[in-house]
Amino acid sequence: MADMIDAPVREYDAIVIGAGVSGLYQLYRLRELGLKTRVFEGGDNVGGTWFWNRYPGARFDSESWSYGYSFSRELLEEWNWEEHFASQPETERYLNYVADKFDLRRDIQCGCWVKSAHYNEARRGWDVMLDDGSHHHAALLLTAIGVLSAPTLPNIPGVDSFKGQACHTHFWPREGADYRGKRVAVIGTGATAIQTIQTIAKDVGTLTVFQRTPNWSAPLHNAKVTDAEMRDIKDRYDEIFARCFETNGCFIHQPDPRSVFEVTVEEREAFWEKLYAEPGFGIWQGNFRDILVDREANKLISDFIARKIRARVKDPAVAEKLIPKNHGFGTRRVPLEGGYFEVYNQPNVELVDINETPIECITPTGIRCSDRLREFDLIIYATGFDAITGSFDRIDIRGVDGRKLKDEWRNGPRTYLGILVEGFPNMLMVMGPHAGLGNFPRAAEYSVDWVTGLVRHARESGITRIEATTAGEEAWTEHVLELGKGLLSNEVNSWMTGVNSNVEGKQTRKIMRYGGSFPSFRQHCDGVVADGYRGLVMA
Ligand code: NAP
Repeated sequence: MADMIDAPVREYDAIVIGAGVSGLYQLYRLRELGLKTRVFEGGDNVGGTWFWNRYPGARFDSESWSYGYSFSRELLEEWNWEEHFASQPETERYLNYVADKFDLRRDIQCGCWVKSAHYNEARRGWDVMLDDGSHHHAALLLTAIGVLSAPTLPNIPGVDSFKGQACHTHFWPREGADYRGKRVAVIGTGATAIQTIQTIAKDVGTLTVFQRTPNWSAPLHNAKVTDAEMRDIKDRYDEIFARCFETNGCFIHQPDPRSVFEVTVEEREAFWEKLYAEPGFGIWQGNFRDILVDREANKLISDFIARKIRARVKDPAVAEKLIPKNHGFGTRRVPLEGGYFEVYNQPNVELVDINETPIECITPTGIRCSDRLREFDLIIYATGFDAITGSFDRIDIRGVDGRKLKDEWRNGPRTYLGILVEGFPNMLMVMGPHAGLGNFPRAAEYSVDWVTGLVRHARESGITRIEATTAGEEAWTEHVLELGKGLLSNEVNSWMTGVNSNVEGKQTRKIMRYGGSFPSFRQHCDGVVADGYRGLVMA
C-alpha cells in the first residue's frame, strides 16, 4: 500500500482495536506488563456497545452486579448499581468511570476507524492504517471489536429515499429522536426492537411494527437496587463471581439438573410459573436441562410461553402472530421484556406481519407493503448486526503473504481457541469467533487474562512471533463444530448462526459459537497453557 509507505509510522508494542468492555480491560492488563499500548476506538468516547446503542429502553438482560468488572476490589466497593438490570446511560457512566479511575484515556484514541491491518513479516508486527491516513505499527494486534458491533440496515429498496427521520437503533442520535406524538414505524422484532417498542409505545402518536419473525420473549422484572441490597451485593461479590465462574453461560443462572420428563405436569408448571415470575434469564438459562437439546422438552416450554402470550394479548389473531412458529423457545437469544406484549393491546399500535404483506419499498413518505402504503414521521430500523465476524470483515485484515482474513473465513470462522488464527501471527482476538460466549464481561475478563498470560510468556521468553499451528486450528475448529451438533439453536437462523439476510454471503447457517459450557472452554484453554502452549508455534 503506497500510502502506508509514505506516512510517518507511529510505533507501539501493542495496538488494541476497540475501547468497549474488552478493550478497556485489555489496555489495563497490557499496561501492567509495561507495554506501550495504543487503543483505537471508532466511537467518540469509550464504551463500545454501551456508547453506541442509546436507543430508548436499551438495558442489560443480565444482572448489573454480575456484569460489572470483577478485577478490582476497589471498583466493586465504589460502584453502586442503580437498577438490577442497568440502563444504557448507567452502563455508559460505569465504563467512563472505569476509564477515568484507571487513567486509561491517555492511551485511547477515539473517533477513528481502523481501515486496515497488515502483517509485516520483515518487522514481525502489524501495520495499521486509520481512516485519517495515519500509519501505526505494533508487534501485537489485539482485536476487542465485540460480537454485535457491525449494524446492518435492511436490504429494502428505497431505504435512502425516506424524507422523514430514520435511524438504526445502533446509531440512535445522542440528542434523541423525536417520537413523541409522531407516526412511528419499527422494522424488526429482536431484543433491541422489543426494548424500543415497549419504551416508546406510551408516547408515540401511532406505532406500526413490521415483523418478519416473532421472538419468544419473557419478563425481565427489573427493579431499583436499594441501599441495603447494594450493601449485601458488595458483601457477596466473591460468592456471585464464584457462581458465574461455575455456570454454563457465566450468568448467575444454571440449568436445573432435572429433565422435563422427570417431574409431574403439576411440578413442571409450578417450576415454569416460578421462573416466569423471577427476574432475568432464569427461564432460559436456569430451566430444565433438556429444553435446549430435546425437541419434545423444547415444545413443552414453548407451549407454556405461548399460553402466556395468548393470556396477555387481547386480540387472539394478534397473539397468534406474536407466537413464533419456526423455532422453539430459547433456540434464539431470548429477549427479556416488560410490558412488550401489552403494547399490542393499545388502539394506536398495529402489528404488520410482513410474511403476509411483504414490504415492497421505502418511499419518501413511508413504507409500502403489498397491501398499501403507510406513512410515517420516523422509521426505526431495529434490524440487527452482521454478528461475530462482521466487525472483522469490515477491516482489511491481511496475514502472512497477504492472506485476507475475510477470505479465510468465507465458509465460517476457523480459529484456535477463538483467540488465534493460523497465518495471522501476533494477532490475538479478545472474544473472537468460536470462543466461549455468555455474560459478556465474565467471558471477556477470562479472554483478556488468557491473552495477557500469553503476551507475558512471550515477552519473558524473548518470543517475537506467535502463531496457531495448522493442526491446532483444525483440531479446535473441528471440536467446536462437533460441540455444535445437537444444539437446537444451531438449527435456527439467527445472528448466533451467522445468518443476516441483509449481508451478501451470510444466508447460510454456520457454527459461529463455542457450544460447550464456559467451564469446559476455560478448562480447555487452561490445559493449553499447562501443556506449554500446545497448538502454537512461537519463535
Ligand atoms: P436481531 O436479534 O438480529 O433482530 C433483528 C430483527 O430485524 C429481526 O427481527 C429480523 O427479522 C429483523 N430484520 C432484519 N432484516 C430485516 C429485513 N430486511 N426486513 C425485515 N425485518 C428484518 O438484532 P437485535 O434485536 O439488535 O439483537 C441482537 C442481539 O443483541 C440480541 O440477541 C442480544 O444478544 C443483543 N442485545 C442485548 C440486549 C441486552 O442485553 N439487553 C439488548 C438488545 C440486544 P428476522 O428474525 O426474520 O431475521
